[in-house]
Amino acid sequence: MTSLMLRGGRIIDPSSGIDGLYDVIVSDGEIIYALEPAGTITAPEGAAVIDCAGMWVVPGLIDPHVHLRDPGFAEKETIASGLRAAVAGGFTTVAAMANTSPVNDSPEVSSYMLQGAREAKAAHLVPVSAVTAGLQGRELVDFDSMIQAGARMFSDDGLPIDDQALLVRAFDQASQTGFAISLHEEDRALTANGAMNAGEASKYLGVAGIPVTAENLRVRRDLALAIGSEAPVHLAHVSTAKAVELIRAAKQQGANVTCEVTPHHFSLDDRAVLTWGPNARMAPPLRSRADVEALLEAMADGTIDMIATDHAPHDPESKCMSQLGGLFGPGKSVSRLSADDAETLARAANGVVGLETAVGLALSLVHRGIITAARMVEMMAVNPARLLRLSDRGCLTVGAPADITIIDPNFQWTVEPAIFRSKSRNTPFAGMRLTGLTIATIVGGEVIFDRRRDEVVK
Ligand SMILES: [Zn+2]
Repeated sequence: MTSLMLRGGRIIDPSSGIDGLYDVIVSDGEIIYALEPAGTITAPEGAAVIDCAGMWVVPGLIDPHVHLRDPGFAEKETIASGLRAAVAGGFTTVAAMANTSPVNDSPEVSSYMLQGAREAKAAHLVPVSAVTAGLQGRELVDFDSMIQAGARMFSDDGLPIDDQALLVRAFDQASQTGFAISLHEEDRALTANGAMNAGEASKYLGVAGIPVTAENLRVRRDLALAIGSEAPVHLAHVSTAKAVELIRAAKQQGANVTCEVTPHHFSLDDRAVLTWGPNARMAPPLRSRADVEALLEAMADGTIDMIATDHAPHDPESKCMSQLGGLFGPGKSVSRLSADDAETLARAANGVVGLETAVGLALSLVHRGIITAARMVEMMAVNPARLLRLSDRGCLTVGAPADITIIDPNFQWTVEPAIFRSKSRNTPFAGMRLTGLTIATIVGGEVIFDRRRDEVVK
């Protein structure tokens, strides 16, 4: 039986409205004392004491949207490497999307993922089931058998669900089962051949742009369907000012809707593509400064419920780095691309890694006074737990499983992709100075990651 005493940290637990200096004691995988005023209790015999002075002690962070690429793409990530990256980033639970090979549309694939997670002994994995067989958008999966196999959310993420009638039937399943459908909103007729957001930067580079309407039209259609249904509907990675305006209105009308934003969408605008090229390419694309401002406002006012990394590891070849790598990078001044290079950029795989930079990027909003510390924890633990219906997670209540993240909110560091736990390095944040870092991650009462013990961070 392992016991831990977390001494003297700032406990932030928005699920119970707590923010103050307390000691926490963990034993046998559970929280046995929380909210003892700091210094009033002594450590139980044999307990390891972790000095948390100056640290935040928060419910283990939960990421409702990651791609672990396993089964199928071990060169990009495996369940083990992805879950190690998760705990290094402070995440104790991640929801793994279904666009693996084979697709997670069967209990067998879900079992494989859960078995891999048990062996990895890092973060917990929640399998996200595909909505449609093979992500083909034609036939619904068997919701009940996927839930029995461990699914706690359904998504064809990576792809939109074009067929409206099929989506209505998926919403019926979500109403009946209570598990949310997460939607990747994109009208592919409007994104075709686009390499980045349509705007000044795409004109400068001479590449085809992806208009905000590609996202907005689908958000509008699907919110209209959600308003008429009881179904829990979640919108993944919202990126436009119009999308958050529509979501705000739908919530006012009582729709059972939640949404997420990624650290890259709230931190960067489309000019980042001029520096990072394919490593700033994802779907939806980085948008304009005005869109970013609208996202920040929606994070502060509660319209945006949670932060999700959309961790999307890729090898250099999928990112077309051999053709494009030389053109982009800090200090290089890229100009108009040749037709060939523009086409290559449009062909480069979508997505960036995010698990190991999310806490620092979210904290930058706290340091800038855009969101409070409690709001950050709400968006990274409380609300994702609710979405995935993990009723005993996202809180530091006595009796809850001891999934806890310890964060130094003032630690200054530089993003160095070479030391990522993830197998992939595709990030637009290399070299960025950030303030705030995960120091230790406790999963089920065990210290699974301890930065002070096993690694030097510059
Ligand atoms: Zn997506």
